[in-house]
Amino acid sequence: MSDAIIRTENLTKEYGRGATLTRALRGVDLEIPRGSFTCIVGPSGHGKSTLMHLIGALDRPSGGSVHIDGQEIAGLGEKALAALRAEKIGFVFQFFNLLQNLTARENIETALMLAGVGEARQRQRADELLALVQLAEKADAKPGQLSGGQQQRVAIARALANDPPVLLMDEPTGNLDSSAEAEVMAVLEELNRQGKTVILVTHSGEIAARANHLVRVRDGLLEGP
Ligand code: ADP
Repeated sequence: MSDAIIRTENLTKEYGRGATLTRALRGVDLEIPRGSFTCIVGPSGHGKSTLMHLIGALDRPSGGSVHIDGQEIAGLGEKALAALRAEKIGFVFQFFNLLQNLTARENIETALMLAGVGEARQRQRADELLALVQLAEKADAKPGQLSGGQQQRVAIARALANDPPVLLMDEPTGNLDSSAEAEVMAVLEELNRQGKTVILVTHSGEIAARANHLVRVRDGLLEGP
């Protein structure tokens, strides 16, 4: 049996009903290997974000199943689903969503606090995470004083607050120039080397070429390799 950290079977997702029914996913069987660097690619509007939301336990399927690190999400109540999400998945989005009035360190400390890390440990852990994304020297800078690539690295550090096994990202470099993109990719590749499963939705062929596992979504289904 393969070691898949994420597995879906006959996964479907429908939005709306009647005349407005959209079948965003139409029966997806997916396995994402633990420790892989996975890219999800495909044309706009074909179901990538829907798939990302489902494998990140941000939404529930219409049909079929999603297993996250061995746990089927269908039967979970809201609280259990939120707990699973917090434990297993670190999210990074295209727009960094950092709190503008807080420093880089404080942004991460806030996430650590929400993750239940005690106050005494927060500062040290925040600084460790900043070092991990090679931003130790920017701990006291606010987002407005950081470049786009640096802000995204703070967002990645924040996503690691719970030490989740999976980093899940929607176009994390979609808003960045090519040198900032290279910075962010270098950090993601290093985290992957250290054992994180990295999953990203991307429109960039260059980024997709660096994946060791490629998932192609077309018209709500997966395409073969
Ligand atoms: P992609 O990420 O590949 O651009 P999406 O997963 O966002 O594709 O969308 C797949 C399909 O589902 C599209 O037809 C889109 O319009 C539709 N869709 C996505 N989210 C919603 C929603 N919340 N309500 C209704 N339709 C949606």
